Amino acid sequence: MRQSRTLIPTLREVPADAEAKSHQLLLRAGFIRQNTSGVYSYMPLANKVIQKIQGIVRQEMENINAVEMMMPALQQAETWQESGRWYTYGPELMRLKDRHGREFALGATHEEVMTSIVRDEVKSYKRLPLTLYQIQSKFRDEKRPRFGLLRGREFIMKDAYSFHASAESLDETYKDMYQAYTNVFTRCGLNFRPVIADSGAMGGKDTHEFMALADIGEDTIAYSDQSSYAANIEMAEIAETVEAQNAEMEELQEVHTPSVKTIEELAAFLSVSPSNCIKSILLKADGRFVLVLTRGDHEVNDIKVKNLLHAETIEFANPEEVAEITGTEPGFVGPVGLNTEIEIYADFAVKAMANAVAGANKTDHHYQNVNVSRDADHVTYADLRLIQEGDPSPDGKGTIHFAKGIEVGQVFKLGTRYSEAMDATYLDENGRAKPMLMGCYGIGISRTLSAIVEQHHDDKGLIWPLAVSPYDLHILALNMKNDAQVQLAEKLYEDFQAKGFDVLFDDRAERAGVKFADSDLIGLPIRITVGKRADEGVVEVKIRQNGESFEIACDELFGFIEEQVKSLSSHS
Ligand code: ATP
Ligand code: MG
Repeated sequence: MRQSRTLIPTLREVPADAEAKSHQLLLRAGFIRQNTSGVYSYMPLANKVIQKIQGIVRQEMENINAVEMMMPALQQAETWQESGRWYTYGPELMRLKDRHGREFALGATHEEVMTSIVRDEVKSYKRLPLTLYQIQSKFRDEKRPRFGLLRGREFIMKDAYSFHASAESLDETYKDMYQAYTNVFTRCGLNFRPVIADSGAMGGKDTHEFMALADIGEDTIAYSDQSSYAANIEMAEIAETVEAQNAEMEELQEVHTPSVKTIEELAAFLSVSPSNCIKSILLKADGRFVLVLTRGDHEVNDIKVKNLLHAETIEFANPEEVAEITGTEPGFVGPVGLNTEIEIYADFAVKAMANAVAGANKTDHHYQNVNVSRDADHVTYADLRLIQEGDPSPDGKGTIHFAKGIEVGQVFKLGTRYSEAMDATYLDENGRAKPMLMGCYGIGISRTLSAIVEQHHDDKGLIWPLAVSPYDLHILALNMKNDAQVQLAEKLYEDFQAKGFDVLFDDRAERAGVKFADSDLIGLPIRITVGKRADEGVVEVKIRQNGESFEIACDELFGFIEEQVKSLSSHS
């Protein structure tokens, strides 16, 4: 492509409102333009990258016999009502009405549409397993669209759905998908980790998220420094520790703690360690109040509480509710002498605490020498806290560290969640109708583009891994008024295209400085500069990734570029 004929609107300034590096660079390099909050146009260069990523995804899907199709983005409300998600999906679902007042949604995901199609078209176990997918724009009215393509309100997703007659068959496809995703993200040049994820209250059992490691990531990953263990921080399980309470239980004692509310204040006021204070939090799980206890230096993991209680929603009780139930204000709540109708859930670590400090359910007062097993009723112990850095890895190997990640994909065993709700059954060998087992598998194509940029850039601009680069080669003719340069550049442009290279040719009548700056900003892997030595048939080749440059004679050029391509391909 001739640069004079395409549209690459590069900017010299860093756009003021873009926080994420990928957002800044994609705007500056002319890859994307915002239309409205969370809605972007993919300019010609981004469109090329999107197509390369999609090409990789299609190959890997084909390899595991997943078949591409296309479903409508416009979905009738009835299908979502059947699954129940019309009522539970919330304001993220973009809803609209047609001229007759009938309700619709713009596809946020396609479980409903796909399940209704397969329900109608597949009747026998003989047609299973079946895996279908599409690549399409999705719509979600995100509360906080941000970071450019990382969290958009319209974004491109690959979504696959699999249908099975047995759990073994679902397992097999799940494994295939897991491997295909590993291949996709490896080929895209991403540094990523598959992590154990939350399947939610509705969920099936297994699910993994594929996390591209990046500081801008909104998810925290807990990983072991000595094994492949990695989990979304919310999902990292913590085994019950069996530290014996060897201290003798002392007598419960009420102490005056005026205005001492936080664990830090409390520990300082009583000269005890935060790890010997009990944090007591009144939560509302689907409207029912429960008291959750953790050690003062630990944090409650609300996903674990939610899953334990099979609740759809968990929220903090507000101050009025706290007053009504405990007779005091947050800060002085505790397990001792609590209204007996309130169930208490304590983290395993609380069981091992002896003679601890806890709120007395009386303003400005705490208890000392609290031993929960002795002093409180209705206590259930469970794993309820967030894992911390330095904790032992749940798989018993190594120590936990944290990293930030961007969720670029997720694989999920749905089980019969949709097939039961929507009556998607098949007839087994004995002619009995059974609900199909299902899996669903998403890749954020546009988010992956941004994640690649987060990991591959420097202060001059983007650095594309070859496999997803908009073009393989950037040919620059430095002076368009110089015939020797123009002729040689034109010839190289033709020759490399004829050899199957995807080439961007900077044939603009711009100054050399502008061309170099734009070229670094756009970040194609290999640049061929036709400059002063054109009449001798010598060009400069520069590798964007490491900045190495070479003066090469044209008769050796093709072989040299092939070598560079080989070496760049083996690095990604
Ligand atoms: P998140 O937790 O980041 O909101 P999600 O878990 O709701 O994402 P899924 O329903 O699993 O997303 O969608 C499949 C994939 O689509 C995600 O793994 C992610 O890569 C991508 N994706 C989801 N929401 C967005 C968005 N708002 N903008 C861009 N990509 C998205
Ligand atoms: Mg997800």
